[in-house]
Amino acid sequence: MNKTCQICEKGSLKAIVEWIDVDYEGHTSKIKSRLAKCDFCGSEQADNSDVTENKRAMTAFRKQTKATSESMR
Ligand SMILES: [Zn+2]
Repeated sequence: MNKTCQICEKGSLKAIVEWIDVDYEGHTSKIKSRLAKCDFCGSEQADNSDVTENKRAMTAFRKQTKATSESMR
């Protein structure tokens, strides 16, 4: 179920996962970021489900950060 790249229309998109650095209220962490990369032109793109998944990871990180900083008070 490879998708064709919308940009070059030659390559196919491969799903990859990257660890990205995030910070929130002075706390830093790494979260997984889902995206797809074209094996021909190398452009990175995220489809709707990737974006939703990435937002969820970011929200979870923020919640965890909040809980951690509140428990330290
Ligand atoms: Zn491409």
